[in-house]
Amino acid sequence: MDAVKDWKEDGAEPPFRVTDLKQWVYCPRILYYHVCLPEVRPVTFKMEAGTEAGKGEEGREARRSLRAYGFERGVRAFGVALSSGRWGLRATLDMVIWPEGAEGAHPTEVIPVDYKLSKMAGEHFKLQLAAYAVLLEEAYDLPVKRGFLYYIPLRKVEQVPINLRLRERLQRELGAMQEMLTTERMPEPTPARARCVACEFRRFCNDV
Ligand code: SF4
Repeated sequence: MDAVKDWKEDGAEPPFRVTDLKQWVYCPRILYYHVCLPEVRPVTFKMEAGTEAGKGEEGREARRSLRAYGFERGVRAFGVALSSGRWGLRATLDMVIWPEGAEGAHPTEVIPVDYKLSKMAGEHFKLQLAAYAVLLEEAYDLPVKRGFLYYIPLRKVEQVPINLRLRERLQRELGAMQEMLTTERMPEPTPARARCVACEFRRFCNDV
């Protein structure tokens, strides 16, 4: 699969965080305000609370068995920093698993695990997992066939296949995000206008 614009060319830091995909899918304009007009973007309590809760989960996760994810043995790492000029993305991933192969063989796959504060599944969670997947594949030269979402309030694990459909959607969304950034053109508003009612950016959107 071809990647989008290569941000390594000019040595710049990858412009987007994997978590930006959530805002992009919710309403592209929110991400526009964030990256093109950063002075108008407040940091909400919810964003800060999410960060802190994610950190708190690491200790509990370390005591949890890998069996929660269906593995007898393997290696895991927490808070793994990832960055790719090729994908224009950077991230700190909650957990990575390298499951032990048969009879102690080296891992044949690497697996992203993303903690979520939500009780509800969401398509954007899967898109974020796909983004972690391509970053892991580049960093560790191993395939990512699946990822896990861990729902903290429910203490529940959901396995997500990192399939072609998800990878193609990731590439489309990243291409559109990078076009917005390079042209600095304001995207169309979200078609789900009910989201505008309580939006903190509403006073900047004059057409909704
Ligand atoms: S007011 Fe509506 S269109 Fe504007 S940023 Fe908010 S959700 Fe998006």
